[in-house]
Amino acid sequence: MFSKRIEQLSESMTIAITSLAKELKASGRDILSFSAGEPDFDTPKAIKEAAIRAIEEGFTKYTPVEGIRELREAISQKLKRDNGLDYDPDQIIVSNGAKQSLFNLFQALIDQGDEVIIPAPYWVTYPELVKYSGGVPVIVETDELTGFKITPQQLEEAITPRTKMVVLTTPSNPTGALYSREELEAIGKVLEGSQIFLCSDEIYEKLVYEGEFVSSASISEDMYNRTITINGLSKSAAMTGWRFGYLATANRELVKAMKKLQSQSTSNINSITQKAAIAGLDGSIDGEIEMMRREFKERRDEAVELLEAIDGLSVLKPAGAFYLFVNHSRVERESIPFAKELLEREGVAVVPGIGFGSEGYFRFSFATDRESIREGIRRIGRFVRSKMG
Ligand code: PMP
Ligand code: GLU
Repeated sequence: MFSKRIEQLSESMTIAITSLAKELKASGRDILSFSAGEPDFDTPKAIKEAAIRAIEEGFTKYTPVEGIRELREAISQKLKRDNGLDYDPDQIIVSNGAKQSLFNLFQALIDQGDEVIIPAPYWVTYPELVKYSGGVPVIVETDELTGFKITPQQLEEAITPRTKMVVLTTPSNPTGALYSREELEAIGKVLEGSQIFLCSDEIYEKLVYEGEFVSSASISEDMYNRTITINGLSKSAAMTGWRFGYLATANRELVKAMKKLQSQSTSNINSITQKAAIAGLDGSIDGEIEMMRREFKERRDEAVELLEAIDGLSVLKPAGAFYLFVNHSRVERESIPFAKELLEREGVAVVPGIGFGSEGYFRFSFATDRESIREGIRRIGRFVRSKMG
């Protein structure tokens, strides 16, 4: 009955586990969830106030599909100010979260059989969206030895005449790995002279604890021309529910193609969110973002220390984002039974590594209060000890 496309699509594992944890909690069970990919902070006040003003002023109608000009100008200025990138408003399109930006991008560029190189561990959504658009995800495995980053040599080996795109997430979900300028330059060298696009997902840009964040498109003119920059405010401004994301590209025709698709699917994003997002982009909430970043950094440090102290587990300290990708392969090889039993026995929800393409790990989000983090890790320790016998 269902289309083949839908039959082969998997549900987002991160969302599925987060919903399951919520259900179990609502049914009265003592659940601590570390599965959600969203900040536990409230959206900054200036953003909420801009939204309230928009409602009161009656800014509640359809807008241009790609987003109002004022918003795209604010994005253009943000990209210049923070990332040294020149994109004019016609090189930018706003969508319902970075997720829709990615969906539209793959639909607009990928043809049947086109290959998209995705380093694993990857964010759950990329391979599914590539398959949905008819493409073939080419997964390149990485591990602790390279800090969960694809090496130029691995990239070179994965490229074939069918390669259409490479997806890079910096900082990464689920590992927090951050690509340095030198690493991006080396990736740029491999791609030079090819027609391959680079999709650079920079949604965790503001949550960096070690090292400098560098935008892939800022590396060189060649990289600027091939890179499609994806970003939004879900993570940096605690705006997951508002649904705001954007894409910027040197290629104006690509923006037009995506606009065509969006005009036939969702049209513009919520008009009120557009006004609110402007307040999140103009630099006025930088102090609040910094406050959240510092808090995340302290939680990261404490959580890493506590997890490392558990015999059987190991974790690389992430340079960015708010996840720990914990290696449990010495306790149990497979991540689904591990996470399932942990939830059943200890009421602790984490996302199995296999959802991100890597067996033997779980993802632990530290976007949760410190008390819960301490108690959650205490329970994880008890669980691991019982399994190690
Ligand atoms: N990219 C990455 C790497 C993510 O973790 C997320 C989290 N949801 C997104 C994109 C999408 O974010 P949103 O749709 O909320 O903007
Ligand atoms: N990106 C977040 C996560 O990885 C939100 C859930 C999702 O969109 O898949 O948990």
